[in-house]
Amino acid sequence: MRKRRWLGAGASLLLLATVALTGCGAKNEPASTNTGGSASTAPADDGSAVQAIKDRGKLVVGVKFDTKLFGLKDPGSGEVEGFDIDVARAIAKKILGDETKLELKEVTSKTRIPMLDNGEIDLIVATMTINEERKTQVDFSDVYFHAGQSLLVKKGSAIKSIDDVTKDTKVIGQKGATSIKNIEEKVPGLRVQQYENYQEAFTALKAGKGEVLTTDNAILFGMSQQDPEYVVVGGTFTDEPYGIAAKKGNADLVAAVNETLKELKDSGDYAALYEKWMGEKPPEE
Ligand code: GLU
Repeated sequence: MRKRRWLGAGASLLLLATVALTGCGAKNEPASTNTGGSASTAPADDGSAVQAIKDRGKLVVGVKFDTKLFGLKDPGSGEVEGFDIDVARAIAKKILGDETKLELKEVTSKTRIPMLDNGEIDLIVATMTINEERKTQVDFSDVYFHAGQSLLVKKGSAIKSIDDVTKDTKVIGQKGATSIKNIEEKVPGLRVQQYENYQEAFTALKAGKGEVLTTDNAILFGMSQQDPEYVVVGGTFTDEPYGIAAKKGNADLVAAVNETLKELKDSGDYAALYEKWMGEKPPEE
């Protein structure tokens, strides 16, 4: 069994070089219509989304506050830290020339698309899988991380892989995550207990309300670090390519994000970030 399958997927970054930077020719940025305090950007592909962020002087990004390794808020310092946070900083630096011109707003898997839709945030950088259904709701960047769904169990559990999960297994998950549908499709008749966020889900697992917590392996590895009595088992049974989401039509913003990702990769900063958070070098492309 490969121990950390998500590490095998950095090859996705190949996509960064190959996927067309839609709208990247939009150099003429008309004056923004948005001068308010919200993150609302004009739903146009004419450069106005990036201009609105420049006019506002800060980028507003929806991130997880409860997901170790990607976006976790330290209750003591109030700081939010993780791989997604560092990627968001790089995007702020690219657009505004200063990585501190960034406001982080908490999203959950359930709230992230509605918050983008109603203009509370400019971008979602929050362990979000690119899939066909979501592509009808948001515009995605190139893939910036590859995870796969897996299982977290208490050490010594009889459940060793997805093959041991039956419709009667008590499985815990998070509302709005792809993981729920994936596992319910894989195990007909199974109904996942769903929680608002990952810390609530993990607390429920630890309280014995379920035998398994399922989501992306990379997220589960973070939980296992928080409490080593819980371990990730069975490898992965789905592909979860992460993308950064912008409101539909904001092609100039997606292009700026893709340029940032490409620059991170070309400079070696992506590899450094990956190693900082995942504890290993990203795989060879
Ligand atoms: N990557 C999966 C998703 O986008 C699970 C992680 C999450 O809930 O953010 O649904």
